Amino acid sequence: MEKIFDPEEVIEEFEFLSRDAERVQTETLRKILEENGGAKYLQKWGLDGRTDPESFKACIPLASHNDLEPYIQRIVDGDSSSLLTGKPITTISLSSGTTQGKPKFVPFSDELMESTMQIYRTSFAYRNREFPIRNGKALQFIYGSKQFKTKGGLAAGTATTNVFSGSPYKKTMKAMQSSCCSPDEVIFGSDFYQSLYCHLLCGLIFWDQVEVVSSTFAHSIVHAFRTFEQAWEELCADIRVGCLTNRVTVPSVRTAVSKLLKPNPELADRIYEKCMGLSNWYGLIPELFPNVKYIYGIMTGSMEPYLKKLRHYAGELPLLSADYGSSEGWIGANIDPKLPPESAAYAVLPNIAYFEFIPLTEHVTSQILDNSESTFSSMEPKTVGLTEVKVGEEYEIIFTNFAGLYRYRLGDVVKVTRFHNATPELQFVCRRNLLLNINIDKNTEKDLQLSVEAAAKLLAQEKLEVVDFTSHIDLSTEPGHYVIFWEISGEASEEVLKECCNCLDRSFVDAGYMSSRKVNAIGALELRVLKRGTFHKIIDHYVGLGSALSQFKTPRCVGTNNSKVLQILCNNVVQCYFSTAFG
Ligand code: AMP
Repeated sequence: MEKIFDPEEVIEEFEFLSRDAERVQTETLRKILEENGGAKYLQKWGLDGRTDPESFKACIPLASHNDLEPYIQRIVDGDSSSLLTGKPITTISLSSGTTQGKPKFVPFSDELMESTMQIYRTSFAYRNREFPIRNGKALQFIYGSKQFKTKGGLAAGTATTNVFSGSPYKKTMKAMQSSCCSPDEVIFGSDFYQSLYCHLLCGLIFWDQVEVVSSTFAHSIVHAFRTFEQAWEELCADIRVGCLTNRVTVPSVRTAVSKLLKPNPELADRIYEKCMGLSNWYGLIPELFPNVKYIYGIMTGSMEPYLKKLRHYAGELPLLSADYGSSEGWIGANIDPKLPPESAAYAVLPNIAYFEFIPLTEHVTSQILDNSESTFSSMEPKTVGLTEVKVGEEYEIIFTNFAGLYRYRLGDVVKVTRFHNATPELQFVCRRNLLLNINIDKNTEKDLQLSVEAAAKLLAQEKLEVVDFTSHIDLSTEPGHYVIFWEISGEASEEVLKECCNCLDRSFVDAGYMSSRKVNAIGALELRVLKRGTFHKIIDHYVGLGSALSQFKTPRCVGTNNSKVLQILCNNVVQCYFSTAFG
């Protein structure tokens, strides 16, 4: 093992930082403000070189992406003066934008790269204590996006692409003894379906060395093994003859994968036998890769709906949720890898940013319900510091980091589950702006997920499952109503679908929704069943916009502002039901 870091030292470092979280926070803010004090943004608000938390909070307002966009746009267009940071920003990340409908530009920097590595190292160190790996390979379903130059000549790509293509990432992966089965050409291939096929193929070639199956977000793993169900015979054929299917056409990908592929009829027979021996693909992953120790990827928040399918493929293997962060910056590491993903929480690293939290009191909840991305106009809410949050309470998270974001409202709601030394562990609750709301009803992404899970149990009786889902508020009729879109794994009977529709409607147990439904202030919930493959079309749409599959999250509520996705959904409806649950 190349000794780039010692896991025990990493743990010691984190223990030290977390014990002294309050001082580390003040120190981190001081460093950020010293490095960037000359930035026009900070000068505009009259910070005047001060670096203490009180002056900072008194001068600098809370900001959404919209507030910073004019600055970021000037940087993207080539203005290299100190706008947001002291040093010029040379790389831009595109956030997945799956919740807003279009990718957003955010600054990327060496410091962000370093904090990403710090997060990876920290969670790895704790993970490796519980689930040690030898010196194997990782079957990683990761995908780079297109990288391009902005009008002003800055390098741009998704945050994961910026990370995967940097040398610190390769070094860290090596030190974590998890080299990727696939060559870079596959990760950065221009056609993600071909890359996905080749990831599977490379994993199968190194089948007995694979110790970890991972992706950034768990959705990519489920997507990969759903694809395997369709493509396994073709994969076996390639392995048998040692020749890549002619469906893989990207020259760089063909060349790189062909180098790894040798005729191996024994392996092809093995895979064939395994696949034939499985019942409904249960335990597929350990059957194919008997030395895998765990499955790893972000499994919380909008990834929870995929856990059931992931468990099905994983059999008895543990599922470990990866860390918590965003294109804008990292937040916390999973240092309790033994917890099931449903209870995973993330310990905040106090030296990667300066964190603040808005307590979600009634006053603020009204702001949280505001779905618009516009500047927050109402009175500025009071924030509390990292070490002042309370266990059991929910907060909106704010951070200030080295990449030029100051008091930035990421848009996530988190809950404090406990403290590790003096730093809190946060559970992801939901996106602030992902709520179904027509009048007094308040339904979060989680409420939608629970309602879909309840109704999906009825489908399970017919051995069918919900492949993916989303929702929409339809205000084109009076009164407005919720629309739930479902893609299903096969054909369900009308009777069951009608029941599912009623169950969806009944399962939103929020008092505002139920009372509005009873008096018909909200109309009957509508279930629209989609053609198979509709969610693939949605992925294609986002990939076309420059997103990468690695960061893809199905938007759980599609508004009229996301007209292209709404159009894809509406054009692919095959059946439609209205609830009769409330008479
Ligand atoms: P992106 O910038 O596209 O990577 O998206 C970042 C967003 O993904 C965050 O603001 C969260 O809403 C979500 N996210 C990231 N990590 C996690 C996690 N561990 N659990 C739940 N949601 C997450």
